[in-house]
Amino acid sequence: MKIIRNPAKMTAWSREQYRTGKTIGLVPTMGYFHEGHLSLMRMAGRRANLVVVSLFVNPTQFGPNEDLSAYPRDFDRDRELAAGVGVDVLFVPDVAAMYSSWEKTTVIVRDLTDHLCGADRPGHFAGVATVVTKLFNIVQPDLAVFGQKDFQQLAVIRRMCTDLNMGIEIIGHPIVREADGLAMSSRNTYLDDSLRESALSLSRGIDLARRLAGAGERSVKQLTIAIRAFINSCPETAIDYISFVNDRSLHDVTVVDEETVLALAVKIGGRVRLIDNSYVLDGS
Ligand code: AMP
Repeated sequence: MKIIRNPAKMTAWSREQYRTGKTIGLVPTMGYFHEGHLSLMRMAGRRANLVVVSLFVNPTQFGPNEDLSAYPRDFDRDRELAAGVGVDVLFVPDVAAMYSSWEKTTVIVRDLTDHLCGADRPGHFAGVATVVTKLFNIVQPDLAVFGQKDFQQLAVIRRMCTDLNMGIEIIGHPIVREADGLAMSSRNTYLDDSLRESALSLSRGIDLARRLAGAGERSVKQLTIAIRAFINSCPETAIDYISFVNDRSLHDVTVVDEETVLALAVKIGGRVRLIDNSYVLDGS
């Protein structure tokens, strides 16, 4: 596996591969790999001849009081794990290589970013859309794989790609979970044993909603009351949002149907903000 740090060298490598007729799949990440990341890399490998993984903790998508400086990092471990699943290039630019102080361009995806995490994290999705655009332009992939764990991010990137005629196939990968249901996340490393138990409130809250909906409850108001009560009964939890949204518009709905996604953000132990989501009805 090659390590490339320089954006121009990354582009040159991709162009060289295209000359030999190879296709390239990109998996953008912020590192500290877990099985979720590795599954995305394997999927990219099944769909393209060559896999590039970018590892870049993007400062512009973190708010001033968020965990940028504390974000977990372990380059040696990440390199081993990526090589182990057959990644061809690990692209690891530093901040100075990605952003100059002259920069004046930001990619803004309207409307989709006003809801859910966008409401709590102003500027976050502009940071994401801009860095993903830069990564697409640098790596020039045929396709890119993103996790459904970041459901809103996936919707924003799909919209951006279509709206700006980027011509890159965007593939969504299902959420990879621990055996007990907790969605894998680099941020789970912040949790001690008791906070980890509290973190299960997200996946269990989703299970509760799916059970109630499966038994016939379609009222978002009633479902929200039930989930809110359940999560609040778990220690060390503070709900950021419980939202039932249409899977494409991301607008709130009042009645659950096949297109309804339940998205949750909950702070655990006062500082670890976790997200999770699922379609509410089976088979949707
Ligand atoms: P991150 O490093 O957290 O920015 O994540 C990089 C990519 O991995 C994003 O597309 C995430 O949606 C995806 N991802 C992170 N955790 C999971 C998970 N548990 N299951 C599926 N995809 C994930």
